[in-house]
Amino acid sequence: MSAETYSATGVRWDLSDLFRSHDDPAIEDTLAAGRSRAERFAERYRGTIRVPGGPSPEHLLAAIHEMESLQTDLERVGAFASLLYASDTVRPEYRDLRERVEQRLTEIGNLVLFFDLEWLDVPDEAAGALVDHPALGGYRHYLRQARRMRPHTLSEPEERLLNERDNTGPRAFGRLFTELTSTLSFAFRRNGKDEQLTLSEILALSHEPDRAVRRGAHETLYEVLEKQALVLTFVYDTLVQDHLTVDRLRRFPHPMAARHVANEIDAEAVERMLAATERNYGEAQRYFRVKARLLGLPRLALYDQYAPVGIDMPRSTFERAREVVLEAFDAFSPVFSTAARQFFERRWIDAEVRPGKQDGAFCASPSPVLHPYVLCNHTGNMRDVMTLAHELGHGVHGWLARRQSLFNYDTPLTTAETASVFGEFLVFDHLLATERDPRVQLALLSGKIEDAFATVFRQAVLTRFEQAVFARRREGRFTSETVCRLWLDANRPYYGDAVEFTEGYRWGWSYIPHFIHSRFYCYSYVFGELLVLSLYRFYKEQGASFIPKYIGLLEAGGSDAPEALLAPLGVDFHDPTFWQKGFDEIRALVDRAEALAATLTPEAPGTPGSAAASRASRP
Ligand SMILES: [Zn+2]
Repeated sequence: MSAETYSATGVRWDLSDLFRSHDDPAIEDTLAAGRSRAERFAERYRGTIRVPGGPSPEHLLAAIHEMESLQTDLERVGAFASLLYASDTVRPEYRDLRERVEQRLTEIGNLVLFFDLEWLDVPDEAAGALVDHPALGGYRHYLRQARRMRPHTLSEPEERLLNERDNTGPRAFGRLFTELTSTLSFAFRRNGKDEQLTLSEILALSHEPDRAVRRGAHETLYEVLEKQALVLTFVYDTLVQDHLTVDRLRRFPHPMAARHVANEIDAEAVERMLAATERNYGEAQRYFRVKARLLGLPRLALYDQYAPVGIDMPRSTFERAREVVLEAFDAFSPVFSTAARQFFERRWIDAEVRPGKQDGAFCASPSPVLHPYVLCNHTGNMRDVMTLAHELGHGVHGWLARRQSLFNYDTPLTTAETASVFGEFLVFDHLLATERDPRVQLALLSGKIEDAFATVFRQAVLTRFEQAVFARRREGRFTSETVCRLWLDANRPYYGDAVEFTEGYRWGWSYIPHFIHSRFYCYSYVFGELLVLSLYRFYKEQGASFIPKYIGLLEAGGSDAPEALLAPLGVDFHDPTFWQKGFDEIRALVDRAEALAATLTPEAPGTPGSAAASRASRP
């Protein structure tokens, strides 16, 4: 079957719950109304929060309500502009709209900026009394968390200046990166046909059964990226220096500190987690050797990491992916499947692959009065089914948390990936339980293991790379060679001598959007995955009694600190042994795969892999 069959053609989201089109006059009306509300807010509240002894609880509560309501209205415009842009990043009208909306929202944000700053100016004693006042009980966590930025906040004119300059500074470099990488074209010859592939499509070929296709795609990917070396290095270098400058101005002690504050986690817990991950790199290398045997290779190369093993996994149409995810969610709880089904029925999802559309996948949950939207690029791999489960996990979370108000809605990054990774586990377990063929079971297990590696080990590598990059930037501007070398250095401890490197791989850092848009994001994936491995074990141990507690966690949104929200489920991530529990689960998966592999590979090592040969001939 052709790629076309699996490409989810026609599965586009319907954004009309937000606005009708990019030129809908209601966009301008909403922005104008938002602006006058912000002006009235400023007239009423400026100078009334930063008062000796602090404001009255009632006065502060009224201001918070008004602010929340204003921001909820504005989220609709912001979400529409960015979703429309993601759906076609090259269409000039969409680019213009996004830029215009970004500017207008910044202006409005600047009008009300004083509110947060005045709250930070309230002396500690008065602020503490307000935080504990029953009238403000619904916003206790929000008020407390906002105060954590107190030592890092500048004066109001300085904050406004930074805000405005960011649009043509770091945000502009971010746009350049997105527009460049989403329009790159990868010329690739397959089955005697020349094709022009997008970044998503060429990356998806790393899961192909045919080794020559994988190697060719790997080489093509990095050849094309290397041609953009000047721009990609320049953009990254500029953004790293920008972060260092802003960190200095804001008095953050180290480049990860701002992320830790936002994540509501301390540096020690993160470092313990990363060190535990590095201690377990040997598990990864053990698996890579098992996989090499399964593929009939003396050693894996980087482009073999995601090669299918066991048996060719059936490719999945988008329809089938939808069924599988809904069945798995339903087996956990109808609350989940009911929430997820709406994404398909009410067209809250955009899954087709097309030029200009943003690469990768995400779920946007703009505000509790709206509903989440999912973007993915379905190419028919089993990996795409897991991506769908992942994004719908987020989607269910965003939907279940909708009873929270806006300021209690979002979770910090550390727990933002909980529902998504849990969703993937549900789908994995469902597939494994309903599958009888041991070769398909092995394929599923290896898929899950490789996915856990990509989420835990690889993200620790990415984090170590970022740390090295930020440390090195203090010495001066980067050359491409420097960044490439730091990238390889960060990767070596993970792969050891179990995986052979390639010439092109030094460019592996250059297309990763997290490095550009959200520095030090990646350790949250490690956190989320290890957390979910433990939660999932609790679910298996506790059965049905676990389900309402878990749903309660998702419904709570971001209404309290992760530690507090997770305590009722029995999680304590300050326990020094906590992280190792997640790795014990990973080891159990590798053991299971190794045992299954032993029963399936009667040939001596070196015999051309019969599995590989038969896979190559399958559709
Ligand atoms: Zn996610």
